[in-house]
Amino acid sequence: MARKTVVILGGTAEARRLADALVDERGERLRVITSLAGRTKNPKYPKGEIREGGFGGADGLAAYLEDVSAGLLIDATHPYAAQISRHAAEAAVEKGVPRLLLNRPAWDAQDGDHWIHVKSVGEAVQEISRKSDACLITTGVNDLVAFTPIITTKLFVRLIEKPESLPLQDAEIVIGSPPYRKDDEVALMRMLGIDLMVTKNAGGDATYAKIEAARTLGIEVIMIDRPPLPDGETVTSVDEAARRALEILD
Ligand code: NAP
Repeated sequence: MARKTVVILGGTAEARRLADALVDERGERLRVITSLAGRTKNPKYPKGEIREGGFGGADGLAAYLEDVSAGLLIDATHPYAAQISRHAAEAAVEKGVPRLLLNRPAWDAQDGDHWIHVKSVGEAVQEISRKSDACLITTGVNDLVAFTPIITTKLFVRLIEKPESLPLQDAEIVIGSPPYRKDDEVALMRMLGIDLMVTKNAGGDATYAKIEAARTLGIEVIMIDRPPLPDGETVTSVDEAARRALEILD
């Protein structure tokens, strides 16, 4: 029987675990290719094959799916990586390739959480200037330039790795890698005198400690809500994704 190919759009811990699970389950009988955007200097690579860098839009991804004779496309990108998810949906339809979306559930506010919901980083910026003397930004490296109008609030930006340049002159970088622990997060926020945190609703366990820490310290959280994702078959866990992938490919 010809070896089938699954393409996983990655950049998340779930995508990595999924690739590992599929390789462990099927070994040489399944070609597992993980695609990474190529933004991280030292990414943790999963088992199977890796390709890195953009495809050049939905058409480029469609051409790639054809090139590798993909039998399944799994979009396991971050819930805020909305553009690649749109491209995945378009490319899969264009080439008639089944597509599965792995989307981890969002966090829900619990008793004691003080969340201010906003739709974009731009909206978050307005809230920060009004409310905070010392704000912890945990939204990643992508949209930092949007915070440049803030001048009266001390900004602390937590990143996984030091960026080549930071568009925020007076901001302080805090380097840290998930998984985070609640006690460490509480200690960090206390040490920096944080009175407001900005975050995306990433979901999952790896970074949830910051939400718990903010709750413990009574710190308000500006929650940038998730962008809409394309319709289509969606699973919420790695196990479910692996099971469905094998059903679709068999
Ligand atoms: P995005 O805005 O949705 O995508 C921008 C462009 O980057 C896409 O059009 C595509 O370029 C390329 N791209 C994105 N993901 C790719 C992948 N897995 N393989 C190949 N090309 C990819 O994405 P983003 O928000 O910048 O995120 C980039 C990557 O970082 C994603 O893989 C995501 O899973 C990961 N990530 C994102 C966040 C976040 O908060 N956004 C957090 C953690 C991890 P072309 O149009 O040229 O194909």
